[in-house]
Amino acid sequence: MSKKKFKTEISQLLDLIIHSLYSHKEIFLRELISNSSDALDKLKYLTLTDDKLKKLDFVPRIDISFDKDAKTLTVADSGIGMSAEDLDDNLGTIARSGTKNFLSHLSGDAKKDSNLIGQFGVGFYSCFMVADRVTVITRKAGEDQAWKWESDGRGSYSVDEAERDTQGMTVILHLNDNGTEYTNRWSIEQLVKKYSDHIAFPIFLEFDESKWEGEGDDRKELKEHKIEQINAASALWKKSKSDLTEEDYNEFYKTIGHDSEDPMLYIHTKAEGTQEYTTLFYVPAKAPFDMYQADYRPGVKLYIKRVFITDDEKELMPVYMRFLRGVIDSEDLPLNVSREILQQNRVLDAIRTASVKKVLSELQKISENNPEKYRQFIEQYNRPLKEGVYSDYANREALLELVRYKSTEEEGWTSLAAYKERMKDDQKSIYFITGDNEKTLRNSPLLEAYKKKGIEVLIMDDEIDEIVAPSIMNYKDVELKSVNKSGAADDLKTEADKEKEKDLEPVLKRIKDALGDKVKEVKASSRLSDSPSCIVADENDPTMQMQQMMRAMGQTDFPEIVPILEINPDHAIVSKLKDTADDAVFEDISFLLFEQAMLVEGQQLKEPAEFVKRLNRMMENAV
Ligand code: ADP
Repeated sequence: MSKKKFKTEISQLLDLIIHSLYSHKEIFLRELISNSSDALDKLKYLTLTDDKLKKLDFVPRIDISFDKDAKTLTVADSGIGMSAEDLDDNLGTIARSGTKNFLSHLSGDAKKDSNLIGQFGVGFYSCFMVADRVTVITRKAGEDQAWKWESDGRGSYSVDEAERDTQGMTVILHLNDNGTEYTNRWSIEQLVKKYSDHIAFPIFLEFDESKWEGEGDDRKELKEHKIEQINAASALWKKSKSDLTEEDYNEFYKTIGHDSEDPMLYIHTKAEGTQEYTTLFYVPAKAPFDMYQADYRPGVKLYIKRVFITDDEKELMPVYMRFLRGVIDSEDLPLNVSREILQQNRVLDAIRTASVKKVLSELQKISENNPEKYRQFIEQYNRPLKEGVYSDYANREALLELVRYKSTEEEGWTSLAAYKERMKDDQKSIYFITGDNEKTLRNSPLLEAYKKKGIEVLIMDDEIDEIVAPSIMNYKDVELKSVNKSGAADDLKTEADKEKEKDLEPVLKRIKDALGDKVKEVKASSRLSDSPSCIVADENDPTMQMQQMMRAMGQTDFPEIVPILEINPDHAIVSKLKDTADDAVFEDISFLLFEQAMLVEGQQLKEPAEFVKRLNRMMENAV
């Protein structure tokens, strides 16, 4: 017998599952059935495509039985099964990518963590909620040797040779006191109806039915052994919408989406005509935990004429829609289609193009008819939509209607369309400010003149905005302008401003001489009212925040790009500065004007000690 220890993260996960999902312990059956269904899907595909397995006598089915006296519950399938190595890989570690990352987000607070686990999907391990020992007997399709895996879920498991007549997997739960309630026909039937009715394979239940024969003293109980199919076994997505309830949709989502929460929304489409296909897409209530990992798990499965083909094809939908879960089922592709053919297939291209349009137009409808739901959507998925603005040129217009931003004028989220509605008659552009902190942005001196003139500015504090917003250029013929850049304020300039600028030129030159190459340029500003100075990026330079981001991503080999310093001509400090003959004082003030502008933008100073010295000299003079 070979005894092995679980990888540490499994023990941690088991603990968490047992404690946080306890009130839904019945889901273990859904998880086992959905694993069986996946295993049957995989084998069905191989019997169509793999020469070795084409002659296999494959009767797909799932069998459930129980023994009240022995306190066991058994779920068996005739699916692809597992080799000894698969058992180690799949049931001994958590194979799923990003698990470590997931676990590192756990707080130890059971309430918060149970929310997280909903996103994660619990899988096989959930059976330890109702069993204190689990035995798996499995044989992989195409192999002769079967294996027995066994564990009490408490740190170790064993794998030994075993026997099984055919390929597939049998899971035997040795039930604990919480599990014995499932050793009867009715509760199993009820659970299967509720959670797994539309699994595409038949699920059979084995049970004894009592019959009474004879009268009076002769009366005796006869047990009749029965095996009955207990699910509808129809692919849910092929049914018509009118035959399905919201609950049907939600439960189906949980079986295919590896999620314990209801989805946020679903979109069910049947296309007929030149292309015949069905799609059923779900948006999870919470963004999948691996959404921002390069090795995220795609959530859309491809079926051809109801036969599962793959759930591991990232190209089925564009990357920015990677949060979608669901099914694409095509009637037009050949069943033995290979992976290579799939990747550049015209039928699939057409389905993808139409599906993306459909999803976007449904989202548009929700944004118009159900603002609260759309707000929830935006809280989770604004960022992937922005990725779409950047990457999906064909749907850019639709996406520009869907993204949302914070704003100086409106509470919550606003759209570009709503901003445009609110624009002042003589307002030339849509203004936005980018940075990594909403509070810093809202208090930025860059906004002063806009505030004073009552011009709305979009607050963009998501790091992806640095890249996406400048790429938008125009929304319905209105130019988007970054307030962080020098050009945006030109719109605000009046004739009087231009006069003042002329006046200020000698001082500006003197400041530039004092600061040297710390700044690119020193200009008079028309955007400041309370602050004496601010920094902006030159029109074609990356903003300070963008540079920070590039460095954080490990990109360090770009030349240092210095900002433009803008000076407020109306500020008292500046007026007095004009008449300062003392060069030392002038230099100190020039530096302080620059350094304070850096600080309000959340930038770090290169020479903080020098800054403090200057400040102290000024204070000494003042007291
Ligand atoms: P998930 O199903 O989300 O991947 P699980 O913990 O439920 O996570 O299962 C881990 C892996 O074990 C599965 O991905 C699959 O490879 C394998 N597995 C589970 N159940 C079966 C089964 N009935 N037949 C074959 N393989 C299975």
